[in-house]
Amino acid sequence: MTDVFAGARLVVVKVGSSLLVDGAKGELRRAWLTSLCADVAALKQAGAKVILVSSGSIALGRRLLGLPSGALRLEESQAAAAAGQVRLAEAYADIFAGFGIVAAQVLLTFGDTEERRRYLNARATLTTLIDLGAVPVINENDTVATAEIRFGDNDRLGARVASMMGADRLVLLSDVDGLYTADPGLDPAAAHIPEVTAITPEIEAMAGDSISGFGRGGMASKVIAARIAMGAGCDVILARGAVEAPLSAINKGARHTIFRASLTPAAARKRWIAGVLRAEGVLVIDDGAVRALTDGKSLLPAGIRQVDGRFERGDAVVVKSRDGREIARGLAAYGATDAERIAGKRTVEIEAILGYRGRDEMIHRDDLVLTGNGQ
Ligand code: GLU
Repeated sequence: MTDVFAGARLVVVKVGSSLLVDGAKGELRRAWLTSLCADVAALKQAGAKVILVSSGSIALGRRLLGLPSGALRLEESQAAAAAGQVRLAEAYADIFAGFGIVAAQVLLTFGDTEERRRYLNARATLTTLIDLGAVPVINENDTVATAEIRFGDNDRLGARVASMMGADRLVLLSDVDGLYTADPGLDPAAAHIPEVTAITPEIEAMAGDSISGFGRGGMASKVIAARIAMGAGCDVILARGAVEAPLSAINKGARHTIFRASLTPAAARKRWIAGVLRAEGVLVIDDGAVRALTDGKSLLPAGIRQVDGRFERGDAVVVKSRDGREIARGLAAYGATDAERIAGKRTVEIEAILGYRGRDEMIHRDDLVLTGNGQ
């Protein structure tokens, strides 16, 4: 049996409401959640970092607020989310503490993973948390997200988080044990597909529409999520979550579908920075900085000689040598105005010059791709 988590550096696990909350009673399924947290602790023990994307706030909150069953108005579900999210976070914090792990609540809206500046902030905060050994527990910020700015379902939120963070595995814990050639509830001849290497039109057709008996989010949203994550170099594992210790169950042979990405997360991110994003400005750097970059280091403000263009923090910029050769592309940690003020200055001076303490680097090496051949 192959360990699907072998060698994983960062695993994102998406947990659906129906797993966490007992539908009839509206209560948290604590024993199950404890078994999931034990699995997460084991993954961390094995060297992986873990981020959870957890639903459940609305399902928990509706009972707390005495809301009726059935469809809720938008403001009712937002109120339910507000009440339920506290309980959800409390449960995670409490259960993880039993494993010596700190849980940290992060509520995101769509713009946080899309808009360049907010994306950089969300990414930096999550990176800091996982580097400190904590397990971020993410949900959509339901109380402020209106219809237009919603992810809508946590499958997609999970995929965006996986892609933003460069995760190498995304686990979608679901009420089905994988992708089938047709809806197995409707078609007894439906066959399970253990492995998918590309989201082809045939695969999309198998997912059907999002309603069917496949639970909230539906198979279509799982396939959309898989496409987003695979594009970022992340393998996606779709498995049934209702079993105890669902992550170990996968490794013990529980049926699942694995969607395999063709690139590594690092290669996919480099392709995105160098090939997809439009450069909004140019930084001209000195020879010492050119050497530092080609040695794999970050670009510090000290090495910058000239700043051109009107870019914002988080925008892509081209890095050139003084004789005009393109050396690299990357995401700027400061907008053009601030970049000009700190160009040529030492990192320790940034705070005094700008009046706030931003990043130490102008472009962090994780956000930088060498593009000049032979450099
Ligand atoms: N964010 C919602 C909640 O916590 C759930 C969204 C979903 O499950 O896709 O209740």
